[in-house]
Amino acid sequence: MNYIHNTITKLKESSPAQVEFYQAVEEVLDSLQPILDSNEQYQVHSIIERMIEPERQIMFRVTWVDDQGKVRVNKGYRVEFNSALGPYKGGLRFHPSVNASIIKFLGFEQVFKNALTGLPIGGGKGGANFDPKGKSDGEIMRFCQSFINELYRHIGPTRDVPAGDIGVGAREIGYMFGQYKRLTGNFDGVFTGKSLLWGGSLARKEATGYGCVYFAQYMLEDRSDTLAGKRCLVSGAGNVAIYTIEKLYQLGAIPVSCSDSSGAIYHDSGINLDTLKELKEVRKVRLKEYLDVHSDAKFIPIEDYPADGNAVWRLPTAQLAFPCATQNELSKADAEVLVANGCIGVSEGANMPSTQEAVDVFLDAKILYGPGKAANAGGVATSQLEMAQNASMQRWSFEEVDEKLKVIMRNIYCSASETAAEFGQPNNLVLGANIAGFRKVADAMIEQGVV
Ligand code: NDP
Repeated sequence: MNYIHNTITKLKESSPAQVEFYQAVEEVLDSLQPILDSNEQYQVHSIIERMIEPERQIMFRVTWVDDQGKVRVNKGYRVEFNSALGPYKGGLRFHPSVNASIIKFLGFEQVFKNALTGLPIGGGKGGANFDPKGKSDGEIMRFCQSFINELYRHIGPTRDVPAGDIGVGAREIGYMFGQYKRLTGNFDGVFTGKSLLWGGSLARKEATGYGCVYFAQYMLEDRSDTLAGKRCLVSGAGNVAIYTIEKLYQLGAIPVSCSDSSGAIYHDSGINLDTLKELKEVRKVRLKEYLDVHSDAKFIPIEDYPADGNAVWRLPTAQLAFPCATQNELSKADAEVLVANGCIGVSEGANMPSTQEAVDVFLDAKILYGPGKAANAGGVATSQLEMAQNASMQRWSFEEVDEKLKVIMRNIYCSASETAAEFGQPNNLVLGANIAGFRKVADAMIEQGVV
């Protein structure tokens, strides 16, 4: 424990004020003690010290002109964390909260997540503190072009392959790819999450949400249970939340909530997916407008959320929870309410949505808990399937991709649960996922020498 404690202390000294990054590192390192104890070569090779230091961090100015002719300035980031298993792979996030700490936490998680998929991809993450909300299409395009004017020199199909994340969907990927192509002259698979018209993969859009529900299904199956008839709380109303809700319906469950940064919707008879898609994918408006179509639903504005948590997790009894919005959106108090209300499982669509204290509540209560780096890995896995289709100039059907996604999610679940059992903590998928991912990356790093 001293070794891990000292490592975290040094990290805090060398990378001040990066609280989300410390949180992600501490969560992983806390799980690794058993494997560090059983294999001293990881310490001899300073694997932990190397893993928590990104291979490369690129920070740059993004200058663009708004519709009023004013010059605006944002901060752009790409953290190329670890390439032991393959080219850097991970999304770009455009959100005003983005800073070096958030991008580093996401990049660090991505390394383990990508390793868990069993696919040849390293880990990275990037983005900008740019707020796409309220921006015109022209402003979004000019921002994306300026962002790529710097980033293009660092990315490439065998080097670093970005994708979407919060605030970055098919439209933004399109503008960034267009500028990349203009600057380099290359039409290659340098982004994933592309439009189906020019190299995107069927089922990529759905993959993170679908995968997160498959993960829940596999956890339940191990307890001889199913999703059928289960009432589910979902947070978020973006890409991951929408396709989590879609797959829950397909497998017979009843999702009763969703949320955005203005508040939460509770619909006792089940969220209407068509309305949600119309509001968020087509009209891109606030969730409150859901009430215009469904007067029997309830809207809880963000101002009315409890001081110690998120109103979504305080809604009437549900058996399953799917946090699909953002980091630290589920507090210890939320976790206690969920468990007290009879929740039997949590599958994380978002990255690190539960605080460390909330995770401890789930593990102590021995409910099913699928950590984000395992449960939401379906998105990046399908991104790699998109890269494979681009490289071989093939196009697979929706069913083919979905079938591969199911197999990958099952393998991730088995890998995490078998590793947890191997280290004497069956059902602790946090420990299982962290050790299984770590082992692959660490062994590859040792084989590749001191680089
Ligand atoms: P989107 O931008 O499509 O949607 C994000 C949703 O979460 C929106 O409804 C947004 O509301 C809400 N949200 C974001 N930040 C906050 C906040 N601070 N407080 C309350 N609500 C918030 O992003 P995605 O669905 O793609 O991503 C959601 C999560 O899933 C993120 O953690 C992401 O890292 C993770 N993830 C995504 C993958 C993907 O393939 N897209 C893959 C793996 C993980 P509003 O619009 O009002 O801001």
